[in-house]
Amino acid sequence: MVIVVFWTLLGACVGSFLNVCIYRMPREGLSVSRPRRSFCPSCGAAISLRDNIPILSWILLGAKCRSCRCPISGRYVLVEILTAGLFGAIASRVAFDPAGPNFGELVVLSALSASLIVASFIDLELRTLPDAITVRGMIIAPFVLVFVPSILPDAQTRAVRQALSGAASAAPLASPAVAWAAAVLASGPLFLAGLYGYSRYYRAAHRGQTTPLRNGILGGVLTAGAGGALILGVLVPPYCAQEAYIAFVSSLLGMLVGASLVFLVGAIGSLISRKTAMGFGDVKLQGLLGAFTGWSGTIGSFFLACFLGSIVGIWILLRHRTHYVPFGPFLAAAALLILLLPEPFLQFLNWYMSLFR
Ligand SMILES: [Zn+2]
Repeated sequence: MVIVVFWTLLGACVGSFLNVCIYRMPREGLSVSRPRRSFCPSCGAAISLRDNIPILSWILLGAKCRSCRCPISGRYVLVEILTAGLFGAIASRVAFDPAGPNFGELVVLSALSASLIVASFIDLELRTLPDAITVRGMIIAPFVLVFVPSILPDAQTRAVRQALSGAASAAPLASPAVAWAAAVLASGPLFLAGLYGYSRYYRAAHRGQTTPLRNGILGGVLTAGAGGALILGVLVPPYCAQEAYIAFVSSLLGMLVGASLVFLVGAIGSLISRKTAMGFGDVKLQGLLGAFTGWSGTIGSFFLACFLGSIVGIWILLRHRTHYVPFGPFLAAAALLILLLPEPFLQFLNWYMSLFR
């Protein structure tokens, strides 16, 4: 209980920092760490420490800036409450886990939900999802899940374990030294393939601009790492029995399935409606989410997001007469729902499927 209260209060403070990220990340010339002090977006006055207490300050100041009396957007307090609520929900799930509390899970799920809040609010405001969250997240996620494999659904890791041991028994048994040599040899061409693939994608997406070298190298390293890991696991069967190894492969698989699913549905939608149905930012976001929910969870969370998005979309269409609904926040909310409440989600899915029987 103490953990839950502490983590909820921490969430409110983190939410206050997330507001800074939401405002500064997409804006040129501003970084999350510079300037150090928060400032009022309308008059630029630095905000003192006593006016920077999460939630409370907003209420005490009557939602107005102390120096210029301009209204402070309700978004600030909404983000703080949302972050506090999510952190509290994650802490209570982890603290009351029958298998015992897993603090790695607590930290990773909290960091994920904080990143998703930032990405969602930037998407709502500016209709863009920052690569600093989606692409970087996709690169980090498989390595993070090696340390907290319990986040991935059991059914998924079991299926990956079976498929890997099947592949390993079909492949010739190699000594670890030979397998490492093969993996290292293959990583060179894989690195170049990743670098080439990423720069091709970047040029297509950004109309001829040169690729930032750092991102290209990251793409190459990820491809080489994933390919090398697969070669090692298949050639040396004891490796692929390791829980960490299975988590790594499951996470990559979830990423691939999530990103491809949104890409395919978006491409079909664009063909039918003759305009962009889903942005490439959504593809990358669902890739990141798939790394945590696994391939089975990512399909479920995508359909849940469509379901939630269509309900809200119809409501917005009726009220505001606009067709545009950013999809990122729905993808993020659906994935978090599945990660935090897997059982009610399965019940909902069964109920939904029973409607068609
Ligand atoms: Zn002001």
